[in-house]
Amino acid sequence: MSKPTSLSRVGDCVVIGGGIAGCTIAYELARRGLRVVVFEQDWLASAASGRNMGLLVNQVDPRALRMMRSALERYREVEPLAPLALRTAPLLLLARDPAQLTLARQHAQALREAGLEADLLDARHLCREWPALAPDVAGGVLVAESWLLDPAAATRAFAEAAREVGARIEIGVRVASALPDGVLTDRGRVAADAVVAATGPWLSDLVPSLPVSAGRGWLLRTAPLPTPIPWVVEEMSWPGQDQLSRLARPLTLGELASDGRPEPAVSALAVAPLPGGAALIGTSLTPSLRDAVEGVQMPRLIAERALRCLPGLSQVPVVAAWSGLRPMTPDGWPIVGRSVDGVWVHGGHGSIGMQAAPATARWLADLIVAGEGGEELSELGPERFRSGVLEGRSPRAD
Ligand SMILES: Cc1cc2nc3c(=O)[nH]c(=O)nc-3n(C[C@H](O)[C@H](O)[C@H](O)COP(=O)(O)OP(=O)(O)OC[C@H]3O[C@@H](n4cnc5c(N)ncnc54)[C@H](O)[C@@H]3O)c2cc1C
Repeated sequence: MSKPTSLSRVGDCVVIGGGIAGCTIAYELARRGLRVVVFEQDWLASAASGRNMGLLVNQVDPRALRMMRSALERYREVEPLAPLALRTAPLLLLARDPAQLTLARQHAQALREAGLEADLLDARHLCREWPALAPDVAGGVLVAESWLLDPAAATRAFAEAAREVGARIEIGVRVASALPDGVLTDRGRVAADAVVAATGPWLSDLVPSLPVSAGRGWLLRTAPLPTPIPWVVEEMSWPGQDQLSRLARPLTLGELASDGRPEPAVSALAVAPLPGGAALIGTSLTPSLRDAVEGVQMPRLIAERALRCLPGLSQVPVVAAWSGLRPMTPDGWPIVGRSVDGVWVHGGHGSIGMQAAPATARWLADLIVAGEGGEELSELGPERFRSGVLEGRSPRAD
């Protein structure tokens, strides 16, 4: 497909973007027999898909948990092709104060309803398990099992799986424009029967009808800790999907002019143990202008927040810090389906790309190939937005 092909050849498909959204949809389409080529302007997982925490229970909303269960099966399917460090760890939903504890209790109920074991524990119990924790935390909910992985490796595993079933992956090729019948790349025009845009926070550059913005988040990586971390930790200040999207909306010109929101819109302590005993510590979310210099103070703010809950870690060396851009939508849920311009879309996964994209890719491939993507997709289509404005009801969050 490096030169224009005849559109009568049914089954040629171009996927734009080599993050988790692009690699999962490329795999799903190729395994259904389509001839797939992926164009990635940089390298696989070069953006958020290689720069996140790799938590598969990053949002405990029941709908997100349903996506996670389906995604977990997909990760297990591709794991034999490339190691992705898929592992389990108990998850602590940490409450710093009584208000967070009330929220933690509500989440525990939702998690139990979703079939996960979740127990409320007091601060004394938690500090016994991990003495690095501050004794004045309010408590937390311990979820018996959660899953995490190496996000860049997991993205590459889907790319490998796609190659195994015939997909071609072209690195260093930028797509300048996307149409329903093909794309224009810096190497020339490529015709296709279907084009899928999976370009993360850059989706609206190619499909202007989509209201996708960018939410920057930062992570720190430590050297190995003196004692192993017993859990994945998520502080209860991380909001639900709907609220998250409101907080991450793009700044207005007025806000920008007055520098009205210099602080992150959301910050919450999150800690993920890494193989070898080191840890990732996060995280924050700030509406981003993508290419402006932003958030240089964030590593310090994240360290401060971490030490409020984990004073015992003050002597641990921090060896790296980086940021990534979450693709945000006005209602917080991914955009999966055909846009008004005829280009298919797999994106806008916000803070749950690793948790959700392998699931939404399978449903989208069913829709593209068989015309039926299942009940979950009926609420994720781009038609719920018109002219960049959220219309109709949000997807169910039951
Ligand atoms: C700090 C942080 C922590 C996070 N933690 C988690 C977590 O624990 N669990 C979880 O589930 N999610 C998490 N996320 C969210 C997750 O990282 C994203 O939802 C996900 O990576 C988005 O994937 P994507 O493929 O849509 O976008 P991206 O990873 O941004 O990939 C898009 C790709 O498209 C390419 N591209 C763009 N434009 C073009 C073009 N014109 N031509 C060719 N290529 C193009 C880009 O180079 C890029 O590689 C986190 C995000 C951040 C920032």
